[in-house]
Amino acid sequence: MKAAIFEKPGLENLKIKHDVEQPKITDHDVLIRVKVAGVNPIDHFVVSGTRPIKPIPHIPGAETSGVIEEAGLHVTSLEKGDRVIVHNKVFDGICDMCLSGNDMLCRNGGLIGVATNGGFAEYITVPEKNVFKIPNEMQWELAASLPVTTLTPYHALKEAALKVNESLVIFGASGNTGMMAIQFGKKMGAKVIAVSKDDWVKDFGADYIIGEYDRVVEKINELTQGKMADVVLNSLGVQTWENSFASVGLNGRLVTFGGLTGADVKLNIQSLYSKQVKLIGSTGGTRKEITELIDMSKELKTRVWKKFTLDEAKEALEALFDKERDGRILLDISNSS
Ligand SMILES: [Zn+2]
Repeated sequence: MKAAIFEKPGLENLKIKHDVEQPKITDHDVLIRVKVAGVNPIDHFVVSGTRPIKPIPHIPGAETSGVIEEAGLHVTSLEKGDRVIVHNKVFDGICDMCLSGNDMLCRNGGLIGVATNGGFAEYITVPEKNVFKIPNEMQWELAASLPVTTLTPYHALKEAALKVNESLVIFGASGNTGMMAIQFGKKMGAKVIAVSKDDWVKDFGADYIIGEYDRVVEKINELTQGKMADVVLNSLGVQTWENSFASVGLNGRLVTFGGLTGADVKLNIQSLYSKQVKLIGSTGGTRKEITELIDMSKELKTRVWKKFTLDEAKEALEALFDKERDGRILLDISNSS
């Protein structure tokens, strides 16, 4: 089969090979013909060598949608031809975290595309428990955005216990996860303040847009009549940390699931306790939440900036950091062929 594969870290070492052995299924696995794959920063980290990976040579790709090609002997919920998405968490199902419904925290876990081969290939093999059927009418673009880009902010806002009528500030609101967070903020009944220079975030439901980055705190102060935000979502890291922390109001929550611009931040403990601020880390989401996303998928949308072919996997990864980027990047692997 054809796959994007690398032996040594570095984007320049990512090659398109036509003779990669098609993965074999066990009795509990399914073989999926990949349709569209999401391209995320995690895939860039994998290829550039900043994450430990298995196996080597390695196929990246953490966000996969496709069609079942073959189902193992003991697979009961899926059959050839089903349209599916892949929950990208490797988990054992037996540790204390899994037993408490937190399979994304599995003590023996990892990520598909990192700890196993991923979906930048014509085919991928995954256990049945990781695979979820999607409705016929769901666009592949959205399907390929549910497992990582949509699940992550959904889980984060649940962790932050966002409530009706609270104010939610989203830094990086036009990013992959930001545009989904706006939609969930509205669904949860919050007043959504999007920090972004892109006016189109309004189409995703943002109540207010702050485009002047140097006046963010002042603007939030105005918009909340001095109360500041109940929940702030900042997945950008150090660059926006100071402003995001200053934007949290009394008894507020600051939630993060990423540190693209750097992970080491300064924290004033006195401001933390005197305002009774809660700092919340969040990672991935649960399988139950995946099913919730599929249920509400008709009401969700994503914005695609560019689609690349599998042959252009390297260009797709480079495009992640393109200053002109204005929406998602996807690999169209077999949708148009
Ligand atoms: Zn576990």
